[in-house]
Amino acid sequence: MPDTDLMTIPGQVDPVPVARDITPRADGRVDLIGLPKRRIAELFAEAGLDAKQAKLRAKQVFHWLYHRGVTDFEAMTDIAKTMRPWLTERFVIGRPEVVEAQHSTDGTRKWLLQTADGHDFEMVFIPDADRGTLCVSSQVGCTLNCRFCHTGTMRLVRNLTPGEIVGQVMLARDALGEWPKGRMDIAEDASESEYTADGRLLTNIVMMGMGEPLYNFDNVRDALRLVMDGDGLALSKRRITLSTSGVVPAMAKCGEEIGVNLAVSLHAVTKEVRDEIVPINKKYGIEELLQACADYPGASNARRITFEYVMLKDKNDSDEDARELVRLLKAFKLPAKVNLIPFNPWPGAPYECSTPERIRAFSNIVFEAGISAPVRTPRGRDIDAACGQLKTAAEKKSRAQLDREAAEAEAQG
Ligand code: SAH
Ligand code: SF4
Repeated sequence: MPDTDLMTIPGQVDPVPVARDITPRADGRVDLIGLPKRRIAELFAEAGLDAKQAKLRAKQVFHWLYHRGVTDFEAMTDIAKTMRPWLTERFVIGRPEVVEAQHSTDGTRKWLLQTADGHDFEMVFIPDADRGTLCVSSQVGCTLNCRFCHTGTMRLVRNLTPGEIVGQVMLARDALGEWPKGRMDIAEDASESEYTADGRLLTNIVMMGMGEPLYNFDNVRDALRLVMDGDGLALSKRRITLSTSGVVPAMAKCGEEIGVNLAVSLHAVTKEVRDEIVPINKKYGIEELLQACADYPGASNARRITFEYVMLKDKNDSDEDARELVRLLKAFKLPAKVNLIPFNPWPGAPYECSTPERIRAFSNIVFEAGISAPVRTPRGRDIDAACGQLKTAAEKKSRAQLDREAAEAEAQG
């Protein structure tokens, strides 16, 4: 039975009631993706295996799921043939459904995905010369309403489950053809093995898709643990960055329990401007936020915190703003780098992007103070895959529909 009870996700001011994030399957089988090895063993034991068998099978299955990317129990060649139908009857290996896949002229790829209960969300892959970054979503929509962000205008929100979050990484590996090929039982017959070494395209993950990851803390943590698990996807925490708009109370926990790199969406240096463009600032102010950054576990000069700063014309882009940014970062002794993001416009956005000259001048001031301040090149703009442009087609449509209705109402009245 679908669990449609309401749960709450904190919003800017008040918690926002949303549908619960557990989606039981109609056929009663359990999706193993998103579960830790320990939980898989428990489920195997509950289904009738003795404890030792359950643990052994969980270890094998886990390896097939996360290391080899198989989606069919029949492919698990080191599991007895008779055991495979037993698994198939009870369990599934899920992936988010792909509604649409788009390819930008610059190589960026975007996927519109759908949860089993019909919610759309997006993920983006950005290839570079020396790395490939997957931009992963943590929620459907976002309960915060940063004024320059398209996702923030979405109304529909639910937390993505650990399976839906790690499922994005699995799907990207599927699409890029990046699972090790060939037989797994190399120890038994090394000569026959075609097991290939890694030379992967997908090297980095950023939690910068839709949603505020620290408002879905437990699920994001559980998913990233699977991504970092040496027996799982085995990506180093140094290659994973979590971006937050500044959910101060969850930041220390993020460092302690997840331990990934931190990016903070600062975007403004005065209370007045940050209150306007990143309204969570009214709840957790700039000083409080920067103190939480200074206290972030694991931050050091070798692992600096990234401060994201979207360049909005005549709003936050003056020389004075740049100097104040430097002052603040120094006052809090932050091991910082600044990422200047040219604003990506979307229909109806209330801001414009700063001029290239202004962005360069801003960058120079920060750089001359000894803080690196690269300007991020917008990627995938032609397919609406750039920062802050993620908003699902269905929502865009409903918005267009709303606009039409408003125009009609106006014409009539
Ligand atoms: N909710 C998290 C992570 C997702 S947003 C956060 O806010 O940090 C990822 C980054 O894209 C954030 O720095 C966000 O501020 C930025 N962004 C949002 N809309 C944008 C836009 N229209 N143009 C450029 N950057 C944008
Ligand atoms: Fe949410 Fe981040 Fe967009 Fe703000 S910038 S509305 S926190 S996704």
